[in-house]
Amino acid sequence: MTGASRGIGAAIALALAADGWPVAVNYRSGVDGATATVEAIVSAGGHAVAIQGDVSDPAVPDRLLGAVREQLGPLAVLVNNAGLRADGLALSLSDEDWQRVLDTNLGATYRLTRAVLREMIRARFGRVINIASVIGPRANAGQANYAASKAAVIAFSKTAAVEVARRGVTINAVAPGLIETEMTEGIPSDLGERIPARRTGRPEEVADAVAFLASERASYITATTLYVDGGLSA
Ligand code: NAP
Repeated sequence: MTGASRGIGAAIALALAADGWPVAVNYRSGVDGATATVEAIVSAGGHAVAIQGDVSDPAVPDRLLGAVREQLGPLAVLVNNAGLRADGLALSLSDEDWQRVLDTNLGATYRLTRAVLREMIRARFGRVINIASVIGPRANAGQANYAASKAAVIAFSKTAAVEVARRGVTINAVAPGLIETEMTEGIPSDLGERIPARRTGRPEEVADAVAFLASERASYITATTLYVDGGLSA
């Protein structure tokens, strides 16, 4: 479970643990948040460990998965949630902001997925859930890098899913709308009026969708994108 020190990732970690999954709580720099996530899981009777690692670094995914296997055993569920934004108009985006958004949101998703598929195929069970966004399928001025990364996450998820579908492994994307987290602090509140549900979402509402896709109940759902957005993408 990448990027679980706060926000949507922390909520997903808690929801998966509540369903009985042992959870590896990955974080980049938010050690206090990751520790708090682990403590919340443990005090609710679950099992979790915190594992540091910047997933945008191409060398990290293999090391990270090695640590997860060592501490928790074989991987059955991978949630690629770590993500960031570095907004700017396309005409003035820096190469650096383009690359770090693509490396984190897309590159890490691809590398981690690639690294878990063999063992999932061997086990004839696996769940990969990639956190995309409503931005990507739809435009948002100032977020060309973010939109490109998230649209690509959806395309990657679908294509990888059809490659492994007959092996008991499902791969899906979850596309949140406007969810209240640190990432969306400072986003103009008038956006709420464009959401059919007339409110922003809570991280737990995204987490419930992810927990469902990770469960046995979602065994025939693959290569799809589940929007958790109060109707924003309609
Ligand atoms: P957030 O509050 O900013 O949390 C981001 C999390 O990702 C943090 O735990 C952060 O860890 C981690 N992270 C960032 N870069 C990382 C890296 N290189 N390696 C490992 N961990 C990294 O964001 P959020 O709103 O919960 O968003 C979670 C996901 O949902 C993202 O993929 C985001 O694009 C997507 N999303 C969010 C919304 C929304 O409205 N909030 C909407 C659509 C999609 P550290 O604290 O250690 O840096």
